[in-house]
Amino acid sequence: MQRRRDRDFAMELDRQDPLNSFRERFLIPRHSSGKEEIYLCGHSLGLQPKRVEAFVVRELKKWGELGVRGHFEGEDPWLPYHELVTEPMARLAGALPSEVVVMNSTTVNLHLMLVSFYRPTQKRHKILIEAGAFPSDHYAVESQIRFHGFDPATSLVTLAPRDGEDLLRMEDIEAAIQHHGDTLALIMFGVAQFRTGQVFDIARITKLGHEVGSMVCFDLPHAVGNIILKLHEWQVDSAAWCSYKYLNAGPGGMGALFVHQNHAERSDIPRFAGWWGHNKERRFLMEPHFSPIPGAEGWQLSNPPILSLAALRASLEIFADTNMEQLREKSVQLTEYLIYLVKEELADQIKIITPEDPAERGSQISMRVKPQPGSHTKEQGQALFEFLCNQGVACDWREPDLIRVAAMPLYNRFVELFDFVQLMKQFWQR
Ligand SMILES: *Cc1c(COP(=O)(O)O)cnc(C)c1O
Repeated sequence: MQRRRDRDFAMELDRQDPLNSFRERFLIPRHSSGKEEIYLCGHSLGLQPKRVEAFVVRELKKWGELGVRGHFEGEDPWLPYHELVTEPMARLAGALPSEVVVMNSTTVNLHLMLVSFYRPTQKRHKILIEAGAFPSDHYAVESQIRFHGFDPATSLVTLAPRDGEDLLRMEDIEAAIQHHGDTLALIMFGVAQFRTGQVFDIARITKLGHEVGSMVCFDLPHAVGNIILKLHEWQVDSAAWCSYKYLNAGPGGMGALFVHQNHAERSDIPRFAGWWGHNKERRFLMEPHFSPIPGAEGWQLSNPPILSLAALRASLEIFADTNMEQLREKSVQLTEYLIYLVKEELADQIKIITPEDPAERGSQISMRVKPQPGSHTKEQGQALFEFLCNQGVACDWREPDLIRVAAMPLYNRFVELFDFVQLMKQFWQR
């Protein structure tokens, strides 16, 4: 289809979109003007599915009516409640149900993952991450290195893009893995890169890491529900993610942990254990000796927050009515359309730093203001960001100079992207 720059064309794309009606299943925030916001912040906090309230209220009622008996009685008793989200979550990660457990939050799960899969020795003690990794990832790996008596100055390898570039090149990742070779204990990458939206080649990094004998783990809050994942097939050792970004499970929503089948059944892997990871048949015998549930469930510590799980169920129910292939197809169309409009309408003002190749990006597009005569780019960027917020666009600002937007295939429309670009144009036409 020949692209056009008018609003009718955007409306035509929406009419042809097979996922168009999914938007009706979400609550859309309103701007102070009373109009619906152009919500492009699903990479930060996904919107609320309308059915969340019903799911949560049902558990509140159960608690009110049954008290402690709610653990065993009524519909969906709480004791096995977390099992209800395992299969749909595993599907989104391309994992076997036995490889996934929903529990805790991302950073807690990163630590549990590191406890099991970062096993440094005098010779093999290094962790390779990106220099621009999410701060929590830095803090987690540095503290784990110290916890094992090593020094981040010699055990943490950080990889940055080349001077003047925003994106990491695969050849540089490959060279770093080769260079550090048998001193690498663990490689951990965040996908998609939270600042740039760059999607790294998980399958390839995993293969390269395994070739030098390293464990390979991923931090995937920006990947699950965003791009197509095959964690099992790709032989990823372990991964963690959250459910409040692309998975729309609400603020502070629960995290998940993936442990590959290659490791998940092994009881000899060290782990920090808790009673919820103990053999289900024997849990309430309250024995002191720990015997883990086979699979990722054996990494559980505590009984889970049922209200958070209930909210997540409302979201996963929506994903179950479509699939990642369909969502991904629309997501690529949305980003291609946005990139087209920005290039056509704002070529002199905006630089998109997210990769052009759809295989290297998800829903997120990161952009910065190009140097303008007589003004500082960072200040212009911040002024543009504030203007957009005031006009009812939800997007975010990342230091030092980036505006991040993401159009979600479940609830965003092409016409919103058209209106968003028009607003950016207005900023320079004021
Ligand atoms: C969002 C995000 C987190 C958030 O951590 P929480 O423990 O859920 O607060 C961590 N790492 C990455 C890469 C993220 O994108």
